[in-house]
Amino acid sequence: MAKPIVAVVGRPNVGKSTFFNRIAGKRISIVEDQPGVTRDRIYTEAEWLNIPFTMIDTGGIEPDTKDIILSQMRKQAEIAIETADVIVFMVDGKEGLTAADQDVANMLRKTKKPVLLVANKVDTKDLPDTFYDFYQLGLGEPMAISSANGLGLGDLLDEIVARFPKQQEDIYEEDTIKVAVIGKPNVGKSSIINTILGEERVIVSDIAGTTRDAIDTPFTHGEDKYVFIDTAGIRRKSRINENIEKYSVIRSLTAIERADVCLLVIDASEGVTEQDTKIAGYAHEQGKATIIVVNKWDIIEKDTRTMNRYIKDIRDRLAFMLYAPILFVSAKTKQRIHQILEMVKFVSNQHAMRVQTGMLNDVIGEATLLNQPPSDKGKRLKIYYATQTAVRPPKFIIFINDRELAHFSYTRYLENKIREAFGFEGTPIWIEYREKG
Ligand code: GDP
Ligand code: GDP
Repeated sequence: MAKPIVAVVGRPNVGKSTFFNRIAGKRISIVEDQPGVTRDRIYTEAEWLNIPFTMIDTGGIEPDTKDIILSQMRKQAEIAIETADVIVFMVDGKEGLTAADQDVANMLRKTKKPVLLVANKVDTKDLPDTFYDFYQLGLGEPMAISSANGLGLGDLLDEIVARFPKQQEDIYEEDTIKVAVIGKPNVGKSSIINTILGEERVIVSDIAGTTRDAIDTPFTHGEDKYVFIDTAGIRRKSRINENIEKYSVIRSLTAIERADVCLLVIDASEGVTEQDTKIAGYAHEQGKATIIVVNKWDIIEKDTRTMNRYIKDIRDRLAFMLYAPILFVSAKTKQRIHQILEMVKFVSNQHAMRVQTGMLNDVIGEATLLNQPPSDKGKRLKIYYATQTAVRPPKFIIFINDRELAHFSYTRYLENKIREAFGFEGTPIWIEYREKG
């Protein structure tokens, strides 16, 4: 399930960080950060009534004009509108309404996303006279809270959670392959999606009866059913500037959570960047199948070794996902675009593959004969039995005598042997040990 995203927007000093820290339950604020250190903790995981969600901290946005406060607030609002599912607009209940509040409210009124107007610093039960001015913002009834004293937070969280989008998951049939197209802005995600959707045998499905903005794009290709997850933000051309770029990663993360297969799009003219590595790492940790798609191949000057150089570089930088196939494509010239769906179908099958216990144990048995399990202080690792317990991703449990002896390198060796025998191309595989007396 994808976690809904909540963003808090408001003037400096209204209490956003205080609120953020309260909800997050951990201290992760500006206070902790040393000057000059780039803030990277732009989001945190939170939970209310057993519903997990992600909170974005837009506090670290650098203003870029002289009117610092206003430009900063506009950017926060922009990020919130682009990225969040629910926006909390925080004003200062002590200070009352200001012109800057009006300005941001004007922006927020244009979004279709739910906006909750919250007056912070109402530390007592009595509402200040200025409270009623906030109705002028045209964002409905203000809620009074005190982040410092913890007043009204429960009610606010109830309201936030009530506005989370309905999960679309259930409407797709079991055999629909869920695909997330992930990567930084401008690598060509939307171009790739549009090119695939424009292919001859691809038919985009109607989703009847969806009231809110459809965020997914379901389609069929021949007999096969697919859905591109969370395409709303990708296909709509956003005017996001580079300052905001990192926030788009959060959207990728939630798309990854819902997907079976990730298309990690990399710009050939840039190669693998640090941000690509982060996104790829998340897909890997989440146990998703991944295909690395190197786009804009048309603009690269090539000789006979160019492709191999790219492959080597990708394998070096994304060494934790050697299983991921690499495709070199161009959304512009459509070169090899038609191979993407074939590959998606293939890795999706690999991701869901289940091997027979007998065959698995034959492979493990042979592997241990070929390369003896490690020993330590006279005690040798004994492998009794292995079985696959899950798919998507494939998960194996290996029963052994002593977990201490199961070193990483031997696990990797076993993983390689399993891959040699069965494939599992494009998918991580999870290996877990159980001790058996
Ligand atoms: P931000 O700039 O919007 O992130 O605001 P901060 O969270 O840094 O808070 C600004 C100031 O307001 C700090 O001195 C906080 O202690 C104070 N503050 C935050 N919430 C409350 C509140 O509910 N009541 C009162 N009285 N002060 C608060
Ligand atoms: P997104 O932000 O990742 O969705 O990227 P877009 O699909 O909007 O593409 C960003 C820019 O790259 C646009 O100007 C596209 O025209 C361009 N672009 C996308 N794919 C290709 C490609 O294969 N080759 C070239 N030369 N340009 C491309």
